[in-house]
Amino acid sequence: MLFTSSGNYQLDQFLSTEANVLRSFFSVNPSFFLYDDTGSPNARAFPVAQLPQYPDGTVVLGKTYFNMMYNFAQNVTVVPVTMAHEYGHIVDYKYHVIQANGMYAELFADFMAGAFLYYRSVLTPTDVYNNLNWFYSIGDYAGVNDPGHHGTPQQRLAAAMAGYNWLKTNAYPGINVTQAIPAAKAFLGIP
Ligand SMILES: [Zn+2]
Repeated sequence: MLFTSSGNYQLDQFLSTEANVLRSFFSVNPSFFLYDDTGSPNARAFPVAQLPQYPDGTVVLGKTYFNMMYNFAQNVTVVPVTMAHEYGHIVDYKYHVIQANGMYAELFADFMAGAFLYYRSVLTPTDVYNNLNWFYSIGDYAGVNDPGHHGTPQQRLAAAMAGYNWLKTNAYPGINVTQAIPAAKAFLGIP
């Protein structure tokens, strides 16, 4: 069940603006929806498009997960950066970077979200500290061969910081986030 409205006009405006900023930053065009994630708080990205005007797939944000992020930081700062992680998955799907679910796909998306965190911090006052803490908080200690393992807290923080520092070093006019793909692969140590 997908929703286009949270029921709160200001929040809808915020999410819609952020979705457009992310489409532009990542050069991808997925649709964006809210969904009922009661019992399994999450945000997700899918390669399948729901709407023809948004051909690059679908990003969904759970209402419970939104509340968790809000409670974590006491403001909405983590929400755009978590959305950026999902757009990072869309970049992966569109440019066939990792081509497998699991830890490398998650750390790639964290790298991309970290690059966005730097971009956002230049555009608008941004709580970088709470955002980096969030990446640490979503890490897990499942076994490396467990498909549910998405990286330890240390790995997730390191990937986000590597993306942040990549854009900070490469933030010249005309830079395109697709140019971060080779840097992200080098960081992850994958061909
Ligand atoms: Zn992910």
